[in-house]
Amino acid sequence: MEELLERLLEECLHFTTQGRVADYIPELAKANPDALGIYVIGSEGKHSWAGDCHQPFTIQSVVKPILLLQALLDNGVELVQSRVGVEATGKPFDAINAGDQSLDSGHINPMVNMGAIVMCTLIRGATYEERFQRLLELTRKLAGDESIGVDEAVYRSEKSHGSKNRALAYLLKSYGLLEDDVEEVLDCYFRACSIQVDCRALAHIGAVLSNRGRLPVSNQRIFPSALARYVNAILMTCGMYDGSGEFAMRVGVPAKSGVGGGIMAVVPTRMGIGIYSPALDSKGNSMAGIHLLERLSKELYLSIF
Ligand code: GLN
Repeated sequence: MEELLERLLEECLHFTTQGRVADYIPELAKANPDALGIYVIGSEGKHSWAGDCHQPFTIQSVVKPILLLQALLDNGVELVQSRVGVEATGKPFDAINAGDQSLDSGHINPMVNMGAIVMCTLIRGATYEERFQRLLELTRKLAGDESIGVDEAVYRSEKSHGSKNRALAYLLKSYGLLEDDVEEVLDCYFRACSIQVDCRALAHIGAVLSNRGRLPVSNQRIFPSALARYVNAILMTCGMYDGSGEFAMRVGVPAKSGVGGGIMAVVPTRMGIGIYSPALDSKGNSMAGIHLLERLSKELYLSIF
């Protein structure tokens, strides 16, 4: 496996030059555009890796499935689905879905910003500080890493350059889809996006989802298998935003990307994969990361289709 990962990584390195590091959050622009790393955790517990897989980066939108999981654990499927739908939006992650249709819960999705902002309001806790701490705890458990924390510089950068997310949150509020104080909700969302991870952490989260809610090796159950089905299905249809259809054809597994350059991929019953490569394509997905996943999928017949 290591040899295969090394070879594919070598073959895909040049794709990093075709992408661009996100700069709409100024702190993210400091990332090294040439970086590429991969980490795989198999269902039997074997770890394999190659490249810049120990480089820390912020989780960004890869936190969305964790926000969804926490909301589902706290409220159950029925309530969550009544507040945020499950249909793919087919639109960019920060799209304002109000121009061509009325804004209602069925028109947002937990894998795009509007849906993820609502998820923050569904997490239980007396204060937004407490809600965030519970989310952080779940992230640590899923990632198998108790040391995971927040990148404070990225958090401050997101908070002071978050006009678009503020616009989305106020729009949700005006349509009655969000009740709480917008700044408090967004503070939780910005901190969630600024959680610092590496490829190993993302691979571990993917491995738990591929193992239908159980930790690899110990088999300890973290969440019910019905919730793994719910999350994996939404990752398949909307995890890569408006690039999800093409990703389904090229790679064919549930996955989630983030503008920090991370991709978390779930190969049901077989493995979790964590990728880092911050040079992004026009949809905000890791350019070389998708090429690397595509090749790995072909070599190991990973596509579920
Ligand atoms: N924090 C980012 C934002 O809200 C997350 C977006 C992403 O990773 N696609 O804009």
